[in-house]
Amino acid sequence: MALIDQLIEALRVLPGVGPKSAQRMAYHVLERERVGGKRLADVLAQAVEQIRHCARCRDFSETEVCAICASASRDAHLLCAVDRPPIVWRSNRRRAIAACISSCRAA
Ligand SMILES: [Zn+2]
Repeated sequence: MALIDQLIEALRVLPGVGPKSAQRMAYHVLERERVGGKRLADVLAQAVEQIRHCARCRDFSETEVCAICASASRDAHLLCAVDRPPIVWRSNRRRAIAACISSCRAA
């Protein structure tokens, strides 16, 4: 299989990316964004190798236990475990944890 076809096929692992979208992305990277494409490839390879789930809360983390769970100021009696971190999780994690705890307490 030609390298460009392998690239298009590889891009299809992303959710919502069909054959036409994958082809458009591949052409865009090759025609206009080679530096960005190289950076994407490098960061993606590192992320897939190095990011795992926190052993306590299951959020994504580069260490066995994430920074929030490892924080000395964190209340060790409270745990907000997630099955799969939602997309909005990263941008406002502390507020999401507070909401989760409130809802658990109300139940
Ligand atoms: Zn954690």
